[in-house]
Amino acid sequence: MSDSSAFLPFTKPTIDEETIAAVADVLRSGWLTSGPNVQKFEAQLSEYFGGRPVRTFNSGTCTMEIALRIAGIGAGDEVITTPNSWVATANVIIETGATPVFVDIDARTHNIDLDKVEAAITPRTRAIIPVHMCGLPCDMDKLYALAEKYQLRVVEDAAQAIGSTWQGRRIGSFGDFASFSFQVNKNIMTGEGGCLVLNNAEEARLAEKYRLQGVSRSGLDGIDVDVLGGKYNMTDIAAAIGLGQMKHLAEFNAKRAALAQHYFDCFGADFEAHSGAELPLADFENCNWHMFHLVLPESVNRAAFMQQMLDQKIGLGYHYRAIHLFSYYRARGYTDGMFPVAERVGKQIVTLPLFPTMAMTDVERVVTAVKSCLL
Ligand SMILES: *Cc1c(COP(=O)(O)O)cnc(C)c1O
Repeated sequence: MSDSSAFLPFTKPTIDEETIAAVADVLRSGWLTSGPNVQKFEAQLSEYFGGRPVRTFNSGTCTMEIALRIAGIGAGDEVITTPNSWVATANVIIETGATPVFVDIDARTHNIDLDKVEAAITPRTRAIIPVHMCGLPCDMDKLYALAEKYQLRVVEDAAQAIGSTWQGRRIGSFGDFASFSFQVNKNIMTGEGGCLVLNNAEEARLAEKYRLQGVSRSGLDGIDVDVLGGKYNMTDIAAAIGLGQMKHLAEFNAKRAALAQHYFDCFGADFEAHSGAELPLADFENCNWHMFHLVLPESVNRAAFMQQMLDQKIGLGYHYRAIHLFSYYRARGYTDGMFPVAERVGKQIVTLPLFPTMAMTDVERVVTAVKSCLL
């Protein structure tokens, strides 16, 4: 991996032979859809999140939509969220019939600016979907104080935050709904998948209905359908991957933190002042280092910078373009200038390579290349 002539992608999943064998076992067993592995994976996740009920799904997008449905949110309701996220975060609000209301982000954390939320609350506001961007948690004290004051449901988009903590407590182990993604780029993955941490058995029962056509068991003679559900269940193949990943979660996150620390060390204390670029907040208490971002100075053209890095065989990503500037959202009335921080970050941000099998020398190679472009 430290071969400096090899292409370095910005991320890559880590899969051991044991997991590959476990998947082969599922395939040989003949039971491929939700079954014993899903049950075992949900039990492990529940234990991981302090005993709260957890249900798995086939994405970290439908988890959020289902949380909103469980909360009874739909047409006529407003849901506050951030423009700095994967578009899924806002799409799910529209899917339920509710209206997303964006609030700009904090320039240092890239999370929703909780000091600006109050001004966006109306009598129709029912919920808030904050994102723990790159695994850096939102201020949970402020968030839940607001939720309590205005009686808002919270659906934490914790897609990137498995293993992140707030004051020593794991994200997902407390609070209201917490949604995690196991899409292939996340800290643990199932190819595609997600899970929702819920508050009680009644919500868990509803989650089961919404993930499978609204079906519930009814008496001895079969089933009934009393709500509109979809088809969102996780396969046992995916759950077998998840079980294999869970064994390594702590080790993966520790490796990510070590690589992130090395990035800071290699960039050095004066990098920001000399380059005009911004490094992430160095929160080694709480963050699971899902991604390592760099916000380029406005004088640098991002596409050109990414090409220069690619010429040195380094693949970068950018996460994310501001949601409200996509055509679909512009057609709903959003325009440039509405959320200036998210817009600037969305235009200038790049994601540097960071994944558990990366070598420390890979970090050095990336930093050398970045400096050759910016300094
Ligand atoms: C990955 C991600 C999602 C979507 O998860 P999927 O499993 O791809 O549906 C939503 N929000 C954020 C912040 C994400 O990173």
